[in-house]
Amino acid sequence: MNNNAIESWNKWMLFLRCMPIPWLVIGHIQKIGQKFEKRKKEMQLLKNGVGSKIEGKLRETLGLVGSAMEMTLFSSTTGEYGLQLTNNRRLVVNLSRRTCSCRWWQLRRLPCAHAMAVIEREKLRVYDYVSDCYKVSAQAIVYMNAIHPLETHDSTHVDQGTDQVVGG
Ligand SMILES: [Zn+2]
Repeated sequence: MNNNAIESWNKWMLFLRCMPIPWLVIGHIQKIGQKFEKRKKEMQLLKNGVGSKIEGKLRETLGLVGSAMEMTLFSSTTGEYGLQLTNNRRLVVNLSRRTCSCRWWQLRRLPCAHAMAVIEREKLRVYDYVSDCYKVSAQAIVYMNAIHPLETHDSTHVDQGTDQVVGG
């Protein structure tokens, strides 16, 4: 664990750290449950099936299209497009396999600027070429389960008036 992870954990557990262990666990579960519900509500607001960070990355990549390259599109019958860049480099974008010979698309699982140029030229929807792992459908799988509250019996607790641990 690095310091950021520890600091995050401390911030997350701030008010729970002084609690007896059963209350610490219950408090932690409640916080996770609240976070799940928050994420579920946020997912319902997403347009285009991707989150705001992915939207930003797509917009950023789209900004690169046309600024650093000129391209000539070749055959589209195989789903492959050959691109000639201004520096005489040739690249191959394959929309059906979701690959580009620059390898950026395969690495990030988001269309690179070359793929975006092809997608834009063919008037296709860029969100159809974003990996499923970035889509709301993947988030829905992560957050589909509910966090259930726990009940306690005769366990210790902190008295709100005295801040003393009682019971147990
Ligand atoms: Zn590329």
